[in-house]
Amino acid sequence: MDVDVVVVGAGPTGLMLAGELARVGVRTLLLERRPEPSEVAKAGGLAGQILQLLHHRGELDRFHAAKAGPEPAPRFPFGGLHLDFTRLNDSPMRAVLLPQPRLEQLLAERAVDRGAEVRRGHEVVGLRQEDDETVTVEVRGTDGPYPVATRFVVGCDGGRSRVRDLAGIPFPGTAFPEIERLASVTVPEGVTLLDDGGLDVRGVGTIPFGYTATEHGVFACSGMGGTIGVYTAEVEATEYDDDVPMSVEELSASVHRVLGIDLPLGEPLRMTRFGYSAKQADSYRDGRVFLAGDAAHLFPAGGVAVNAGMLDAANLAWKLAGSVQGWAPPGLLDTYTAERRAAAERTLLHTRAQVALRRAHGPTGDALRALFLELAGDEQPLLRLGALMAGTDVGAPSSEAHPLVGAFATDQALRVEHRDPRVAGLLRSGRAVLLDLAARTDLREPAGLWPDRVDVVTATVDERPADVLLVRPDGLIAWAAAVDEPGATALPALRQALSTWFGASSV
Ligand SMILES: Cc1cc2nc3c(=O)[nH]c(=O)nc-3n(C[C@H](O)[C@H](O)[C@H](O)COP(=O)(O)OP(=O)(O)OC[C@H]3O[C@@H](n4cnc5c(N)ncnc54)[C@H](O)[C@@H]3O)c2cc1C
Repeated sequence: MDVDVVVVGAGPTGLMLAGELARVGVRTLLLERRPEPSEVAKAGGLAGQILQLLHHRGELDRFHAAKAGPEPAPRFPFGGLHLDFTRLNDSPMRAVLLPQPRLEQLLAERAVDRGAEVRRGHEVVGLRQEDDETVTVEVRGTDGPYPVATRFVVGCDGGRSRVRDLAGIPFPGTAFPEIERLASVTVPEGVTLLDDGGLDVRGVGTIPFGYTATEHGVFACSGMGGTIGVYTAEVEATEYDDDVPMSVEELSASVHRVLGIDLPLGEPLRMTRFGYSAKQADSYRDGRVFLAGDAAHLFPAGGVAVNAGMLDAANLAWKLAGSVQGWAPPGLLDTYTAERRAAAERTLLHTRAQVALRRAHGPTGDALRALFLELAGDEQPLLRLGALMAGTDVGAPSSEAHPLVGAFATDQALRVEHRDPRVAGLLRSGRAVLLDLAARTDLREPAGLWPDRVDVVTATVDERPADVLLVRPDGLIAWAAAVDEPGATALPALRQALSTWFGASSV
């Protein structure tokens, strides 16, 4: 076997996955067809639950330090509206501004530092699942074609995934006909920024801040901080190549079609163009071949895809590692499809709803948006929407499970003898953690039977959410003992959870 895992595609998903695998000693080869990293401006930042995971890994500072500017105001676009999360004390939706090329550079450094091999200019053109052990990957490399024998392949090769096609995994859904353009430009001659964010354009008049729907599409502008933000959305049959950046002339023509004016535009600072689809792969797995990121799902609204793809990677990595290292219980790899498809369904729910909000025109559409904004002004709906956007609301666990099961382990201060760490930090090892918050020796002892996979930590907190938490390497709570739960029910349930997630004990 040449390597343990071949990751196809050096976007945020593949790079995150390669780093996660390499950090726990899995021999990982990442193959990327482009000879050089892409400089095309796509996502403008990291948002949602992935920030919590990077924080738990002690890595968030690295991404914060690289951010392009100040924290964005915690107002996020949602279906042609803005949701204002500033009214919440503890918003579930957070973001770090970090243009995608810079994000990919940091993730690539992280993967290589940990021992993954990244080959650029090497395109995957074929796959063969040989037997129960091996997949052969056919690669067109810089020096000609060659095969790679591996135990697993993960297609992180984007929305038009070759790996998905080669594995024959259906990708049903809808492609929407709108093309959206989003740009930031300098202020040109003849345009004055108004205090309310609108523009005064010589020879045209005032253009208000915010969205304007016309019969040809939607236009929005904002003049702030010495730059102008411009957005258009219109129905267009043209198929654009994501690798060909939008020009100022293309944007200007779009503004003219939608708004019917010639808007002067300054120098381009950020130019992006995109279309929307709502699609999801029927399965994220075919034998030893897996899909993650855009290859597995496409969402019809912005700000959520990078988060979803990087969380796919975190979910899959420790399960693949368990299979490579030989301890994964039967069925562990199938939980990847089940868990991440369920999460993507929640993301499809709110992003499809955003399409309806965005596309509804005329007085009825205005009324729908006004009512929606009124409801989103209340704390509970705003919290729920924030959790959906962050990817932390992935539906309720089974009725018998503790309500914390499936949730991300929130960070909180812990008191441990001679130390005062936080929950974040316990997961840096890449192993699972059994966190005993109530001196439950009866429940601590069995976890000691998985010493290579589960760290056991005893601590106290001010208000304990449970007596014991079993936290997976990806930060999700696998099992919890309710406060004062008798050992008679908790002990067999814990043993079951340990073997379901971490296989047979090693002692
Ligand atoms: C204009 C624009 C703006 C966006 N804004 C946001 C945003 O604000 N927030 C957000 O979360 N998302 C945003 N997105 C979406 C986000 O960019 C994608 O969801 C993200 O890049 C997906 O990451 P990925 O790693 O799954 O796939 P990709 O980034 O598509 O990476 C796939 C990689 O696989 C490589 N590849 C393909 N085929 C092969 C092959 N056969 N062999 C080897 N390599 C191959 C490709 O070259 C590519 O590098 C935006 C997208 C666009 C186009």
